[in-house]
Amino acid sequence: MRLGLDIGGTKTDAVAVDARGVIVERVRLATGFGADAVIATALDGVARIAEATGLSPLEFESIGVGIPGQVDVATGGVSHAVNLGFDELDFGPRLTALLGREVKVENDVKAAALGAYHLMVPPTGAVGGLVPSMAYLNLGTGLAAGLVIDGALWRGSRGAAGEIGHIPVDPNGVLCPCGQRGCLETVASGSAIARQWGSDDPIPARSLLAAAASGDETAIAIRSLLVDNVAAAVRVLVLTVDVELVMIGGGLSNLGDWLLDEVRRVLTSWAEESSFLASLGLDGRVRLVPAGFPAAAVGAALVGAPRASAGAEAGADADDQHDAGGPDDNALDGRRDDERMAEWLK
Ligand SMILES: [Zn+2]
Repeated sequence: MRLGLDIGGTKTDAVAVDARGVIVERVRLATGFGADAVIATALDGVARIAEATGLSPLEFESIGVGIPGQVDVATGGVSHAVNLGFDELDFGPRLTALLGREVKVENDVKAAALGAYHLMVPPTGAVGGLVPSMAYLNLGTGLAAGLVIDGALWRGSRGAAGEIGHIPVDPNGVLCPCGQRGCLETVASGSAIARQWGSDDPIPARSLLAAAASGDETAIAIRSLLVDNVAAAVRVLVLTVDVELVMIGGGLSNLGDWLLDEVRRVLTSWAEESSFLASLGLDGRVRLVPAGFPAAAVGAALVGAPRASAGAEAGADADDQHDAGGPDDNALDGRRDDERMAEWLK
């Protein structure tokens, strides 16, 4: 049995998964704010899963935590977790000391990549033949991807692999918190919608789509920019690593089949103009992470598994602008977009 936690801005998911990777217990808790409160939340999550499974924390094969911000997977240190109310925290070492056992820490998007991969390729123990590679495209407050290559997370030499949200796509675009101009994240993310579509709605995407559906030209333009650039993100991922699948998750993925259909429509239109793109079958590679699946918590549980941890020593993650956030992120109520969207769609 493995235990995984996904610590979000307001909610923490905790799961136990069995040897086949099936979720056997799941609890949701409110996330505390500030370093000590976040540690207490993690301990509470572990205690509640331990109680539900009848196991002591020492009896789990692995305990892993997915958390927003910049994560040094070698030391378990977390920095720039603005939404959680701290800038620097020796998160892994403190949890390890309090629980008396090793705790792995991973950036939440990378953990979700492992969790989404696991949905497509359940761990069977025996890896034979071809293992498909996959990219997880997180459309949350920001835009970022996690890469799973031959069953293991690919972090790159400095942990920046998959930070495609900071690929500039418009030289005349707005300044991004990263210091560049016109990044993909500034046009295809929850924060991009919130910035372009001023609305009292706590879920700007809802208001945007409603306005676009009723013919508002500004809303239609913003919606097109969103869809075109999510499709562009898929194209970047396939052209860079030729992943077999791109799984879309995060808050905007709650737009569901509408988003999937629109992204496929754009990819198909590009294929009609380019025999090269047509030969790559981009539209057939895109999937949605099923709504409600706790990808990051499941992935965190699997971070300690042998296949998942194969690339674990590669180094620290790059600065995760997507959830580390700037002052404008979560301006309305401090919650992550995915949490707001999940509540909206309940
Ligand atoms: Zn940027």
